[in-house]
Amino acid sequence: MARIITGLKPTGEITLGNYIGAIKQMIEYQDKYDSFIFVADLHALTIYQDPILLRKRIKSFIAMYIACGIDPNKNTIYIQSENPYIPAISYLLECHTNFGDAQRMIQFKEKSRQNANFSVGLLTYPILMASDILYCDANFVPVGIDQKQHVELARNIAIKFNNRYDSTFTVPDVLIKENGTKIKDLKDPTKKMSKSEENPQGVISLFDDLGDIENKIKKATTDSDNKVFFDEENKPGISNLMNILSVIDNISIKDIEIMFQDKGYKEFKEYVASKVCEHIKEIQKKYKEIINSDTLDAILDKGRDLSIALAKDKYQKMCTKIGTIR
Ligand code: ATP
Ligand code: MG
Repeated sequence: MARIITGLKPTGEITLGNYIGAIKQMIEYQDKYDSFIFVADLHALTIYQDPILLRKRIKSFIAMYIACGIDPNKNTIYIQSENPYIPAISYLLECHTNFGDAQRMIQFKEKSRQNANFSVGLLTYPILMASDILYCDANFVPVGIDQKQHVELARNIAIKFNNRYDSTFTVPDVLIKENGTKIKDLKDPTKKMSKSEENPQGVISLFDDLGDIENKIKKATTDSDNKVFFDEENKPGISNLMNILSVIDNISIKDIEIMFQDKGYKEFKEYVASKVCEHIKEIQKKYKEIINSDTLDAILDKGRDLSIALAKDKYQKMCTKIGTIR
């Protein structure tokens, strides 16, 4: 069975965008692939995180994955920082990565431009991501277009290492869903919804109060045309809400257009709000049961142990090949 891996950074609360773009895909894949899903807490550290909040969030992410439908019996679920071999492998990979290649990463260029006071971790981030992928010989990495370049870097590092020392890593591929949806910010539908976004009005968190979710959708930025049809360029706000409804309610964009052909934005937004709230209410109910139960530790211990066993083996193989073992 081919292996896939994905991780979410605990830099904010899990958003509807993360749910639709990452978690829901993993749920679809969990019967078909040997699936690894983790909380990427080391990746979150490229920007300052409040320690108390971070600790709380890490566990809440795990509970939320399961509440959304990630089945602990079908997935290896773990916390990245509990596996010390991942950063150790990352360092060895750093020594096999050209500085210029790391500097060329679009995310690095964008984020370092936004904040001149960035950490070295921002530059090495994609190499840590390569370690996440390569230590467990993942075959595929389901990502949004924004992460494609990082998976390509992981591929290149793996090929370079394999060529220099003979075959050590599986060379991974991206798994990009053909009609994968990028959910946009409700206040500014020209940019993507992000959990680290400062203005909460544009972002729906799975932890949000249902009344707040309803209000955010009703107040979402739209054009003044008052006709519900899909046109991402001229009607980004309405098209975004249509994408959300389509995934949440399992209905095609065409059927949404037919359903609302004689109706205006007010009714449409109310409908989207009611469906999103209905869906998130169920997730929140399951989340409460899981976070208040004592099942999480056993799941995390199992995930950590398997992850460490694989990474330790890979680290030792690397050290033997490189020559740092006695
Ligand atoms: P941050 O603002 O800290 O970068 P984020 O919301 O972008 O947070 P990530 O942890 O960077 O979330 O990404 C986790 C996963 O969610 C990735 O697979 C990414 O492609 C996906 N993802 C993130 N935002 C969206 C979105 N708006 N629509 C669809 N998928 C998304
Ligand atoms: Mg992101």
